Amino acid sequence: MIAEVIIESTAKQLNRTFDYNIPKNLEEYIGVGSAVLVPFGRKKELEEAYVVGIKENTEYEVKDIAKLKHNLTENQIRLARWMSKKYFCNVSECIKLMLAPGTKRKNEVQEKKINVIYLKKEAEDIENEIEQGKIKSEKQKRVLQFLKANEGASASEIEIFTDCSNAILKTLEKNGYIEFIEKKIERNPLISKTVEKTEKLELTEEQQQAFNKIEKAIDNEENKEYLIYGVTGSGKTEIYLQLIEKTIKKEKVAMMLVPEISLTPQTVDRFIGRFGKEKIAILHSKLSIGERYDEWNKIKEGKANIIIGTRSAIFAPTENIGIIIIDEEHDSSYKSESTPRYNAKEIASILGKQAKFPVVLGSATPDINTYYQARIGKIELLILTKRANKSTLPQIEIVDLKQELANGNRSMLSVSLYQKIEENLKNKKQTILFLNRRGYSTFIMCRDCGYTIKCKNCNISMTYHKKENKLKCHYCGAEQKIATICPSCKSTRIRYFGTGTQKLEQEINKIFPNAQTIRMDVDTVTKKNSHEDILNHFKRDNIDILIGTQMVVKGHHFPNVTLVGVIAADSSLNIDDYRANERTFQILTQVAGRAGREETEGKVILQTYNPENFCIELAKKQDYDEFYKTEIALRKQLKYPPFCDIIIISFNSKKEEELEKATKFVYKYLNTKLDKQYYAVYQPMPSPIDKIQNKIRWRMIIKGNMKKEAYEIINECLKEVYNLNLRNTAIYADINPNNMI
Ligand code: ADP
Ligand code: ZN
Ligand code: ZN
Repeated sequence: MIAEVIIESTAKQLNRTFDYNIPKNLEEYIGVGSAVLVPFGRKKELEEAYVVGIKENTEYEVKDIAKLKHNLTENQIRLARWMSKKYFCNVSECIKLMLAPGTKRKNEVQEKKINVIYLKKEAEDIENEIEQGKIKSEKQKRVLQFLKANEGASASEIEIFTDCSNAILKTLEKNGYIEFIEKKIERNPLISKTVEKTEKLELTEEQQQAFNKIEKAIDNEENKEYLIYGVTGSGKTEIYLQLIEKTIKKEKVAMMLVPEISLTPQTVDRFIGRFGKEKIAILHSKLSIGERYDEWNKIKEGKANIIIGTRSAIFAPTENIGIIIIDEEHDSSYKSESTPRYNAKEIASILGKQAKFPVVLGSATPDINTYYQARIGKIELLILTKRANKSTLPQIEIVDLKQELANGNRSMLSVSLYQKIEENLKNKKQTILFLNRRGYSTFIMCRDCGYTIKCKNCNISMTYHKKENKLKCHYCGAEQKIATICPSCKSTRIRYFGTGTQKLEQEINKIFPNAQTIRMDVDTVTKKNSHEDILNHFKRDNIDILIGTQMVVKGHHFPNVTLVGVIAADSSLNIDDYRANERTFQILTQVAGRAGREETEGKVILQTYNPENFCIELAKKQDYDEFYKTEIALRKQLKYPPFCDIIIISFNSKKEEELEKATKFVYKYLNTKLDKQYYAVYQPMPSPIDKIQNKIRWRMIIKGNMKKEAYEIINECLKEVYNLNLRNTAIYADINPNNMI
C-alpha cells in the first residue's frame, strides 16, 4: 500500500503530498490521519509527516515510512485540509493543533516552585534566524521549535520531549534566546479544589424557553446554531449548565469555550460545583505542558465528558461531541492571530455540521456579525431580557470633557470623577480607572467640539504620521495635510490625542497622594506578573485604585468596586478600524458591568469629548438593539463585514528590495486574477506600525465576498511569491482579522 503524506513544514512548496510505501508490518495500523516519520530529501534526521490519503499504486520510486507516531482521525485530516485553504496556511500547521502536546509521558513533578522557560525573542525572528542558518545545532533548533508551541515548559519537560540536555538550555540562555523564570506549578489544575456542590436552579420562563429549544436539538442530534443574547446576570451560564447536564446524560461530550482571559478559577468553580471535577477536562495555554498532556489524554481516553477551554480546545481529541457552547462569543480571542489564523467559531460550526449537534453562542453584546446572522435567520435568536438575580445595572453618568475644558479644568479627571474618587477613598471602597488606548495610533481631535478627521472614502479615523507630518487613512491610503484649524468649529485647539496609563497613574498619585494605586497594562503584565496576579493583588489587598487598559474589564468579580471611571471614551471610538463603534460599545458595556455587582449600587463615569456620539449615548442606556440598528446600517452603506470579507495580506521584511518585489508581485497577481466585479484590491502600503525590530511591515487589503475561486487564487499567489525565494520576507494572508495593524 502507498501512503500520500504531507511533510510537517511551514514552507509553501511542501504543502503538497508525497508518496511513501507502507511497510507490511505497519499496514494494519497506518491509515488516513496517522502521524509518521519518513526519510526526506538529503536530511539525516527523519521528518515528521501526516498521512492524508492511501492508494494501491504509485508511478514513482518511493521510500518506506520509517515509523508510526500516533493516529488522527479522517475527520481531523479533512478539517485540516479545509482549514489550509480557508486560512491560507499549510495542512501540517493545522494538523499540529490537533496533536497531543508532546508524545511521551512526563514524570510526576511535585515541586511547588520550578524554573520554567520562555522564549526571549519573537517566534517569528527565531524562525528567520533558523532559516538563515544562524542557529546551527539541531538540538538547539529542536528546543526552540518546541518552545514555540509550549512556552512555559520546565527544563525536565523540555528534556523529555526534545531529548536535549540542560547544557543546551544554558547555551540558548547565554545567547539570548530563552529565559528562566521561577513559577509555581501544579500538576493537576483541579487537584487542590474543593468546591461546594450546587443544585440546578428552577429556570425562569425566558430561560426555560431558550433551554427547551436547544434541548430539542440535542435530543434530535440536529445541527443548529443558537445565539443566547442576554445582559450580564440574565442567567446564561445557568442555561449552559443545564444543557451540559442534558448532553452528558446522553453519553455525549459537552464542550464549553470561554475567552482567553476569563478562564479564571471562578469560572471553572461553577462547573465543578455542578458536575464534580472527575469528568471535567480543562484546556488552555497557561497550563504546564504536563498538565495539558494529561487533560488531553483524559479526553482522548473518554474519561472526560465536559471540556472547558479557550480557543484551541476546539481541537480536543474527541469525536463524541453533543454540544459546543461558546460564551462571550464577541470576544476577539476566538480568532487566532498567528498561523493558522483560524476562527474557533467557524470551526465549531463545521464540527457541528459534521457530527450533527447544536452550537450555542452567548453574549450580552453579540458580535455585529453574529447578530446579523441571527436577524436574517441563519442562527436562531434566543433573548433573555431580565436579570435572573434581580441586581440592578449600574448608573452611568456622562461627562462632557469639552465643557470641563471650557470651565478651566485641564486635568484628566473631571470634577465629578474627582469627587466620586474622593468619596470612595473615604468610604474604603475601590475604584477602577479605565483608559482604552492602543499606544501606537494617534489621531487628531478638536478639543473644543470633539471633531476628528475621518477618511472620506472609508469613514475611518485618519492616523497621524509623525515622520511625514501627514494624516493617512490606513484602509485606502488617502493622505491629507494636518489641519491647524478645526474644519467644524474653526477652533485652533486641534491636536494629537492620547494619554498613557503611566501618565494617568502619575497624575492620580499627585492628586491623591495617600491612595494606593496599581496599574495594569502591557508594561506591567509580564510573564512573571500575570494578569491574574495583579487582579488578585488588587482584590485581596483592597488596593484603592486600579488603573488599566481594557485588560481590566474582563473576567473578575470585585465585590468592593463601586466606581468605574472611563478617562476618555474617545480613544476607542477613533481607532483606525471599521469596528471602532462596536469595540467601544462592547468595552463600555463590560466596564459598566464591573461596578457594583453586589448589594451596593455601582456608579460609572464616562468622560468623553463626544457625548452625543451614538455609541456613547446607547452605552449609557445599555441599548444594544438600537446600537445594532445604527451600526448595521453604517456597515451596509460603506460595505464592511458582514456585507463583505476583508482579507489582509501582510509583508514583513528585513530587505527593502525584497519587500518591493513581493508587494509588486502580489498586487499584480491578485489585481489581474481576482474578478473586479466582486473584489476590490487595494494598493500595498506601509502598515500602521510600519517597522518592528528592523523589519519593515507592509500590507494590502482585499474587500469582497470571498468565494471558492478567490481562496484558490490567493493561496496560489502565496505559493508563487514563495517561489521568488525572498528569504528575508514573510508573507501571510488573514481573513477578517481582529485588528488591522
Ligand atoms: P450570566 O451568565 O447571563 O451572566 P448567570 O447564569 O451567571 O448569568 O446568572 C446570574 C446570577 O443569577 C447567578 O448568581 C445565578 O446563580 C443566578 N441565577 C441564574 N438563573 C437563576 C434562576 N433561574 N433562579 C435564580 N437565580 C438564578
Ligand atoms: Zn472643533
Ligand atoms: Zn480611506
